[in-house]
Amino acid sequence: MIDVYNPATEQVIGAVPETADVDPAVAAARAALGPWSALPRAARAAHLAALRDLLAAHAEELAALITAEMGAPLAISRKVQVGLPIAVLSSMVDLLAGDEPQERIGNSLVVRDPVGVVAAITPWNYPLHQTVAKLAPALAAGNTVVHKPSEVAPLSALRLHELVREAGLPDGVYNLVTGYGDPTGAALAGHPGVDLVSFTGSTGAGRTVAALAAKNLTRVSLELGGKSANVVLPDADLAAAVKVGVGNCLLNSGQTCTAWTRLLVHESQHDEAVGLAVAAASRYTVGDPTDPATRLGPLASAAQRDRVLSYVERGRAAGAKLANEPGSVPDVGYYVAPVVFADVDPESVIAQEEIFGPVLSIIRYRDEDDAVRIANGTRYGLAGSVWSGSPERALAVARRLRTGQVDVNGASFNPLAPFGGIGDSGYGRELGVHGYEEFTSVKAVQL
Ligand code: NAD
Repeated sequence: MIDVYNPATEQVIGAVPETADVDPAVAAARAALGPWSALPRAARAAHLAALRDLLAAHAEELAALITAEMGAPLAISRKVQVGLPIAVLSSMVDLLAGDEPQERIGNSLVVRDPVGVVAAITPWNYPLHQTVAKLAPALAAGNTVVHKPSEVAPLSALRLHELVREAGLPDGVYNLVTGYGDPTGAALAGHPGVDLVSFTGSTGAGRTVAALAAKNLTRVSLELGGKSANVVLPDADLAAAVKVGVGNCLLNSGQTCTAWTRLLVHESQHDEAVGLAVAAASRYTVGDPTDPATRLGPLASAAQRDRVLSYVERGRAAGAKLANEPGSVPDVGYYVAPVVFADVDPESVIAQEEIFGPVLSIIRYRDEDDAVRIANGTRYGLAGSVWSGSPERALAVARRLRTGQVDVNGASFNPLAPFGGIGDSGYGRELGVHGYEEFTSVKAVQL
């Protein structure tokens, strides 16, 4: 069994089995595939709507469970960790309404088939959302799923599995295997009975998963890490850009793949931006995630806390300036208070590698070209942001960023927009119609 810890209390709150053999789960998914994919779209939509309604009915319980297993403040768990999966399920119900869209190209009718058995492997930072972002479109498109959640935070997946049954979905459409990345996740990624591996996690594990799947020529989609840039142009509202940017960086204690962890400001505004960022970060109350006053909970595990602290040390050792006094944290729990580094060398480790904690690197640029060069100067390309008094100028810079998503002037997250990256951030897209199409295969029928 694998123990699951509450990162705020350091207490064991559950345990899940180590699945040694994934064959039965893959076989169950294969057996359920024919009947599930043959269901009319409206019937699959009704099943997903029933699941959506059950998640909504159990939202409070799920939010508390996710907070307990990975430490997000309860308000974030309610709004994002549970709110987003409900929205994603609704989006797939809407997408299935009406007839299947068909494309005509000359004498060809182009249709979309389900891919088959999907292996979904997910991380711990948004455990329910990352699962539903795969499960909902995969099932909507007529696939069946074998899911391996993170060993760090698997409890919400167990509860989801129960709710799937309660919602009346047929046996075998959603199968759960628990265990470590290696061997359980690796066995799934390399299984010849799997038709598509949809992976969310670190770049290193993504590379391994892609290599394992390649043996069987299994399709892969990878949602990996990031080191996203928040580019603040000199004509922007600096105070707003820094405040929103710090909030984005610190969301979920910095454990968000799209976090804008590099703040790029014009050299003439660097010192003012540092002052604003330090002030904004100081307003993030660190502590018990179940306390409504808390804005920053613990990191999800002791290993993640240690990893983040070691990056902070490496940053200091490499000469980055620590701009804020380290805030105090509770004695018990895997806490790290917000860290703001100023005058960061864009080539340094803390500006290049994903830290996945509440650490902001402020970097100066000389002019717009320099800002774009720095923003594009990592191997990642997941998200980003541009701020300017001129929306046209911001859009022009946004178009030059090598990344999967860019927000202009703090525009809100769109759960229907394609989500995913390039480079070390992976390939493939989730959410909305693009996410649905990821779980289909195109067939041309000549008439
Ligand atoms: P991780 O890569 O350690 O684990 C992710 C999942 O992969 C877990 O279920 C794990 O058990 C499994 N895994 C690990 N090694 C494996 C292997 N060899 N074969 C098969 N499966 C394996 O990542 P994590 O620490 O759980 O999550 C944090 C990472 O996820 C960060 O890098 C973050 O940026 C990334 N992430 C990306 C997105 C995105 O959409 N791009 C979203 C959230 C998190």
